Amino acid sequence: MAEKCRAFGAEVLQNEPMRKHTTFRVGGPAELFMTIPQREALFRVLDFLKEKDIPFFLLGNGSNLLVSDRGLSGAVLQLTGDFEQIGFQGACVTAGGGASLMRLAARAAEHSLSGLEFASGIPGSVGGAIVMNAGAYGGEMAQVVESAEIYFPGEGVRVLSCGEMRFGYRHSILKEKEGVLLSVTLRLQSGEKKTIMDKIAELKEQRRQKQPLEYASAGSTFKRPEGAFAGKLIADAGLKGFSIGDACVSEKHAGFVINKGNAAAADIYSLIREVQKRVLQTSGYMLEPEVILLGEFE
Ligand SMILES: Cc1cc2nc3c(=O)[nH]c(=O)nc-3n(C[C@H](O)[C@H](O)[C@H](O)COP(=O)(O)OP(=O)(O)OC[C@H]3O[C@@H](n4cnc5c(N)ncnc54)[C@H](O)[C@@H]3O)c2cc1C
Repeated sequence: MAEKCRAFGAEVLQNEPMRKHTTFRVGGPAELFMTIPQREALFRVLDFLKEKDIPFFLLGNGSNLLVSDRGLSGAVLQLTGDFEQIGFQGACVTAGGGASLMRLAARAAEHSLSGLEFASGIPGSVGGAIVMNAGAYGGEMAQVVESAEIYFPGEGVRVLSCGEMRFGYRHSILKEKEGVLLSVTLRLQSGEKKTIMDKIAELKEQRRQKQPLEYASAGSTFKRPEGAFAGKLIADAGLKGFSIGDACVSEKHAGFVINKGNAAAADIYSLIREVQKRVLQTSGYMLEPEVILLGEFE
């Protein structure tokens, strides 16, 4: 199977530890781990996996994932090479699904284009940011998307408008339907380079002060519940610093679960469940993880 996918143009590793590919720095082995540098290779690999009935997971930068210590069966695919390209045309920018969102925000600023300042500190890929409708400081991807090019297995490539993407809070059509974000076109506004750069620097400083960036994490662990803030509910439940093994509710920002060094995915999972239970008891809110749980935990 690995040989066949290599022949299609994918680089294939077997039993690759997922802790090397997630910002939580946890996760057991992926049976097959493939990096895919161009479209033809991607389509051939996907067709082959479908024909053999092998499940696949499309990995972005692994910054919103908790992968089980038991690892993942099937294939993990990551877009590289051509999929990392970024091209500007006037106020529009087209970026591949594998491009870094932080790099995209920095390149937009170099081109004196405003609209992606909010995204400059989000450590995901363009694909992951579109799937999650990533957002911060009042901005979110949905505000700048013109169109998205998606490969739907069995259907082929379709170009969806922003409306057709069904964006919502940390939601898009790719949360409802399996597909691969190949590229996205964003519409930005021309602005003054210095103003854009200053805004990026200001937001970076805010993150540095408020978030535990010195530790491995997946950002905010829980979604923001209607009418409340997850971090405040967790802090009010007295859970700042609460730990299971090396998994810990950050003292600096209770909305973040951090890996203090040698946490197992099972520790982080148990901590998430315990936080949910205690916050439900103290506030009546059932927190929903924003982090995607992959593999078996129970
Ligand atoms: C320190 C830190 C700060 C963070 N701050 C923020 C923040 O301010 N706002 C915010 O919204 N998030 C934040 N996050 C969370 C995370 O960075 C975002 O959710 C990001 O958009 C995830 O992108 P990713 O490429 O890492 O996706 P992954 O975590 O790899 O995957 C997330 C989902 O996207 C899917 N996916 C990825 N690429 C594709 C593709 N090409 N096609 C189809 N599906 C794909 C995956 O299958 C998965 O379902 C933060 C994380 C960290 C570690």
